[in-house]
Amino acid sequence: MSWEDNVRKVTPYVAGEQPKKENVIKLNTNECPYPPAPGVAKLAARMEWDRLRLYPDPDASVLVNALAKYYHVSPKQVFAGVGSDDVLSMAFLTFFHGGKPILFPDITYSFYDVWAELYGIPYKTCALDQEFHIRPGDYRQPNGGVIFPNPNAPTGVFESLDVAEQILMDNRDVVVIVDEAYVDFGGESALPLLKKYDNLLVVQTFSKSRSMAGLRIGFCIGSEKMIGYLNDVKFSVNSYTLNLPSQILGAEAVRDDAYFKSVTGRIVATRERVKGELKKLGFSFPDSRANFIFAAHEAIPAGQIFQALRENDIYVRHWDRPRISNSLRITIGTDEQMDRLLDFLGRYVAGYGKCGASRIHAGT
Ligand code: PMP
Repeated sequence: MSWEDNVRKVTPYVAGEQPKKENVIKLNTNECPYPPAPGVAKLAARMEWDRLRLYPDPDASVLVNALAKYYHVSPKQVFAGVGSDDVLSMAFLTFFHGGKPILFPDITYSFYDVWAELYGIPYKTCALDQEFHIRPGDYRQPNGGVIFPNPNAPTGVFESLDVAEQILMDNRDVVVIVDEAYVDFGGESALPLLKKYDNLLVVQTFSKSRSMAGLRIGFCIGSEKMIGYLNDVKFSVNSYTLNLPSQILGAEAVRDDAYFKSVTGRIVATRERVKGELKKLGFSFPDSRANFIFAAHEAIPAGQIFQALRENDIYVRHWDRPRISNSLRITIGTDEQMDRLLDFLGRYVAGYGKCGASRIHAGT
């Protein structure tokens, strides 16, 4: 007998690499290439640091109230956490407790099965169709809950609200979570469906469209009853999840809607331009409504392109998994970053097969 026999053994989620060196073109974790709203830096400069002696507000009221106002819901319908990962993890723990398997797509955010394993929640995956779309009929089977991202990750594919509503109609007796981490880049939020479905939970994040991945802010909106249950579990794990700067600066970011719209608009414009350029280079991809493109090349294996890019300090994401091993998930950066990526890919594709193709240098 060893102490190790008593250890909870899990296979953790693997996050995208955060490079230690400078000058990397970082297109691997779907961060925003633009700074947070200008008011955030101004407010940070005026922070009363003495307040750090005290615990933060366990209800994160300043942030919750700002979000409630912005999304036209009651503050009792809003729950905030340390990134949407924290919110999702709490939601798994709270709502997926029925014993029956929860359902999610076979190609999706790879944290879902990790939480399911961690909390001992049985799960079943439903295969996306050839175009990476959800088949709503798959979710018409006995289950203990449903979760899917919309747009999906890592494909970028957006499902119409009709699909979300179909799934909700077929699953009135369990909680349905829509993970909207990427909804601000041209998707449509399921929030209006909250009026009809009190079993819907919509999860969003400040990490992508609000340029605040470093402060770790996520939130969800649902019926008052659901948020009550979520708070009971949260207050049974850790009362003070969101730190004070995140609460105050997050609320400030929500107030600057014009900046938010201009940043997301820029990303969408860059994404649409890059789609055209990637096609010219022989890449194909499902149409993305997120801040990334999930691209496969007609002739060159994704793993090789990934390595060549990495050797030239351009980081993208690649998974060696069934159905997606020949695709690269490329985050949309600034126009300049994307031009450097496209410039490298243009030379790499043209030189592929010729000796030394992978040693082409970006920026030369
Ligand atoms: N959901 C999806 C679909 C994501 O891709 C991510 C980002 N890895 C998250 C949730 C979590 O993001 P965060 O914790 O930064 O809010």
